[in-house]
Amino acid sequence: MNVLVVGGAGYIGSHCVKQLQAAGHRALVLDNLVFGHRSAISDDVTFYNEDLGNRSAVAKILLEEKIDLVMHFAAFAYVGESVTDPLKYYENNVGNTIQLLLAMTDAGVKKFVFSSTCATYGEPDELPIVEDTPQSPINPYGTTKLHVEHILKDLAHTGEISSAVFRYFNASGAAEDGSIGEDHAPETHLIPLAIAAATGQRGALKIFGTDYPTPDGTCLRDYIHVDDLARAHISVFDQLAEPNKFVDYNLGTGKPTSVREILDAVEKVSGLPVPAEEAARREGDPPSLYADNTKARTELGWEPQYMDIESNIATAWKWHQSHPDGYGDTQD
Ligand code: UDP
Repeated sequence: MNVLVVGGAGYIGSHCVKQLQAAGHRALVLDNLVFGHRSAISDDVTFYNEDLGNRSAVAKILLEEKIDLVMHFAAFAYVGESVTDPLKYYENNVGNTIQLLLAMTDAGVKKFVFSSTCATYGEPDELPIVEDTPQSPINPYGTTKLHVEHILKDLAHTGEISSAVFRYFNASGAAEDGSIGEDHAPETHLIPLAIAAATGQRGALKIFGTDYPTPDGTCLRDYIHVDDLARAHISVFDQLAEPNKFVDYNLGTGKPTSVREILDAVEKVSGLPVPAEEAARREGDPPSLYADNTKARTELGWEPQYMDIESNIATAWKWHQSHPDGYGDTQD
């Protein structure tokens, strides 16, 4: 298939491009490089430095490149910023996504794969989270993703576009060969920050909250390897051949891991101590989020390969060792 990966120079998008190529598809990338990295994309991939909100330019690319399916990873994803600057998030994550969908209808492209998030569930009453757990986001970031999910459901109903929505838990790790990995500016995610604390590139890691109602008092999350995410995206293609299709899947390992367990695992993998200090809770952090991934496993035949947190962190560590400053094109 000819697949346009929007946001393909970003963390999850670039790993998807690599997996698409490995699976024999033709992957093309559209990215405005606001957060993406040009060097995350290999030179044999057609690259468009373009904004997803540019309807006419995107429609032209879709037609000229005979695109069969669009994957969309290009969103702003800083929860705190979404609270202080919600319009920025609604404009990009919802407004520009509508322009992208309009470009698809202009060009007659009918298959769409969308990056959503477990943040659409907010603070669920029951764990693990299944796909029909009520979606009630507690921040604008999660709300923008849920709005797009609703739009996609409506478009499936009309038969204009069939969609697969993937709700990611904590994307983590890096390509097994160490060629691409995680490089956000600013970086807010636990594993890269813990690695940077271990290597002395940053000060002590702040543990946000040690009085949560969890076994060791720190938050529980479900860390899913980025290549496991990518493989799920490719395994859904067959389902999108049908019109009027809307499918949704949680992508997680199903295993909760605490902040302290992550720090222990980083120490084991790196052989270095992780300097850490206890700090106040971070606003908006639910105590516990982990997936029931039964639906993705049974319907897609998908099995996460990185079930053990140390094997996941080992790939992030390998990437860090060969790229201590990430791609080296941004300052954090
Ligand atoms: N966390 C932490 N210190 C940090 C960054 C994160 O204690 O410097 C905690 C955070 O409170 C959460 C978990 O690590 O419980 C995962 O946070 P991250 O930002 O990686 O992902 P999120 O779950 O917020 O999407």
